[in-house]
Amino acid sequence: HSAANDPKNLRVKLVLLGDSGVGKSCIVLRFVRGQFDPTSKVTVGASFLSQTIALQDSTTVKFEIWDTAGQERYAALAPLYYRGAAVAVVVYDITSPDSFLKAQYWVKELQKHGSPDIVMALVGNKADLHENRRVLAEEAVDYAEKNGMFFIETSAKTADNINQLFEIAKRLPQRQSS
Ligand code: GDP
Ligand code: MG
Repeated sequence: HSAANDPKNLRVKLVLLGDSGVGKSCIVLRFVRGQFDPTSKVTVGASFLSQTIALQDSTTVKFEIWDTAGQERYAALAPLYYRGAAVAVVVYDITSPDSFLKAQYWVKELQKHGSPDIVMALVGNKADLHENRRVLAEEAVDYAEKNGMFFIETSAKTADNINQLFEIAKRLPQRQSS
């Protein structure tokens, strides 16, 4: 048995940040339940959902996903929410430049106050609305690269790239030591 083949089970706190309405709750529900309900008033809120995935090297990752109950409006509460998070998913809506600016605010906040080895993803959601796109992918890629972030465009509606987003687990620093 080489160490590289030993199964590992990781538990990972993941938080979602971003403007209200960008689709954070829908991304979580798509990932955890495989559903999209455009009419539901989703408030995963106070509790969290969890979902376990297997990576190719026999590691399993149990995500403990913290969706927000209005952290968008109470920025002062945000540090309580992202404290101890190993992964932060910062979401914007590709049809909303304002939400992209807000995403950049959250990235700076996490760089200042998040744990130093936090793994961050920048996510352009609502990719199905590409006809109304107002944030260029190139611009977002550039920003993500400059900030050492993983970047992906998703659609919670069509499920496009949702599972790929959570493969960010491959970047966790724990996985390099063994
Ligand atoms: P949150 O405030 O960031 O949690 O946003 P929600 O998950 O509540 O979604 C806000 C609105 O955007 C809802 O009306 C969703 O139906 C819609 N929405 C979320 N994700 C998508 C998506 O990928 N595509 C489209 N077209 N609409 C989406
Ligand atoms: Mg929500």
